[in-house]
Amino acid sequence: MKQVAIVIPVYNEAENLALFLKETASVCDAIPGYDFTWLFVNDGSTDGTLTELRRLSSENGQIQYLSFSRNFGKESAIYAGLQHAEGDFVILMDGDLQHPPALIPSMLEAVTDGGFEAAGAKRKASLSSRMFTGINNRVSSVKLEKGATDFMCMSRKFVDSVLKLSESQRFSKGLFAWVGFEIKWLDYEQGPRAGGKSKWSSSKLVHYAADGITSFSILPLRIVTIVGAVISLLAFIYIIATLIKTWITGIDVPGYVTTLCAILFLGGLVLLAIGILGAYIGRIYLESKDRPLYILDESSEQKDEPDEKQSN
Ligand code: UDP
Ligand code: MG
Repeated sequence: MKQVAIVIPVYNEAENLALFLKETASVCDAIPGYDFTWLFVNDGSTDGTLTELRRLSSENGQIQYLSFSRNFGKESAIYAGLQHAEGDFVILMDGDLQHPPALIPSMLEAVTDGGFEAAGAKRKASLSSRMFTGINNRVSSVKLEKGATDFMCMSRKFVDSVLKLSESQRFSKGLFAWVGFEIKWLDYEQGPRAGGKSKWSSSKLVHYAADGITSFSILPLRIVTIVGAVISLLAFIYIIATLIKTWITGIDVPGYVTTLCAILFLGGLVLLAIGILGAYIGRIYLESKDRPLYILDESSEQKDEPDEKQSN
């Protein structure tokens, strides 16, 4: 029997857990030749998620959980889940049933018989998501699939490769692409959440997109350098021309509009450049602190886990 671990990051999903288990189990039970376990990662939920997980795992040995001391974010929960998941294959999915369990059989097939190290689900991407992917693929050497989600089935080799990337500013979709294995993409239609609300706000998404680009590309830095160089060159030519003109025709009536425009334009450009630089320095700052990605509070193993640090 091959072992498959389903990893589910959950944040305030108490009302969805039972239904999620029922739906996934009914699909998994029908797949012969595999043993499934469920590993929930409770990302500091403030509703009854943890109580529900304790109850479910005491009733059923196939259900395990890790629980964080506070909300560390989905990326940290994914990392913790991948670290702790045992088995030949790991399936990563959301706990709100927006990732249809019906895809699991074809995903498993792709990584077993299909010769892929990973299979992922992709949906019709929204305009903003297509724009982000488009920009990312232009500026970064790590190409993302349009509409790709992090609903993925991965081989042990794939999981171990992803775990080698232990950066604390994580952008999983990019990391899954970075490790290089070809991913089989399966299309699906995303339905509404089973219950509750999405935890993403539009400002969070903008940050996430900016993080995605700065984690995989330094092209923005190159662009400001080139823009700076071009402007310096033009300014130099302009200075020489003005000097020669002044020398021949004498001093003109000074035009303050030109001066003002130049100062404002350059001032804006300098601030923009500093901002871009700052984004990268910010990443270095956060990364250099080398803080753990999460702190475990308890888990179904009940082994006294030491303060969980990224073990690599
Ligand atoms: N999630 C999490 N930590 C967070 C936010 C979300 O573990 O800080 C989980 C959430 O419980 C769900 C999955 O990540 O299982 C996807 O979240 P959500 O459904 O809110 O995102 P959306 O589907 O709107 O992109
Ligand atoms: Mg969702």
